[in-house]
Amino acid sequence: MTETSIAARLAAARARIDAACARAGRDPGDVELLPVSKTHPVDALRAAHAAGHARFGESRPQELEAKASELADLGLGWVFIGHLQSNKARVVAEVADEFQALDSLRLAQALDRRLQAIGRRLPVLVQVNSSGESTKGGFDPDEVPGVIRDLRALDGLDVRGLMTLAANTDDADAVRACFTTMTDLQARLRDEHGGGFDALSMGMSGDFELAVECGSTCVRLGTTIFGARDYPTP
Ligand SMILES: *Cc1c(COP(=O)(O)O)cnc(C)c1O
Repeated sequence: MTETSIAARLAAARARIDAACARAGRDPGDVELLPVSKTHPVDALRAAHAAGHARFGESRPQELEAKASELADLGLGWVFIGHLQSNKARVVAEVADEFQALDSLRLAQALDRRLQAIGRRLPVLVQVNSSGESTKGGFDPDEVPGVIRDLRALDGLDVRGLMTLAANTDDADAVRACFTTMTDLQARLRDEHGGGFDALSMGMSGDFELAVECGSTCVRLGTTIFGARDYPTP
């Protein structure tokens, strides 16, 4: 992918987000386009940075650490969006600027310990399994209010909202049901806590316009921006 085509893809995706906002009567300034750069080379991130982007989504601790060090000159913000094992919490605690995939209390405690040790507070989103698919991570929607109460005891974590991956299907109604589960849950949490929980990270390359129409504040776009990923075989 050349620098110009990454810039063009970013602009095209932004235009689609803005159009979805217009359809839903929303302010485009309330929706972040987060380029998901996992598996793509640092040149691709430099190109996106040249086109005005300063925050990137990554999903593997080692890759995050390597890219953050290689691109230290750009002062980028790093959003960790992947499943994180508790024994890898250090990297995210030290390097990430936001963590969107908090999916267990054990992980929350491990992160909190690391964060408090270095005097950092990390914005986090709680991952919700809105589709009920057993292959997807995240808490069941019904568990989330209790989880949020437990997380409040952890001073290193600043809970800003919720994240989900919708059902992986062409059935728009099924995808919409996932997004609606999220906005219902957000409303319930706001009720219980008197506000907050503004961040709602939902929408990927295949479903981001619908996500925006349903209230997303952050769409995570990989393929749409950087092209197909070659997953290295383990
Ligand atoms: C890889 C990934 C994305 C981006 O997926 P695309 O379909 O390529 O846009 C978004 N969210 C999460 C959590 C991911 O792991």
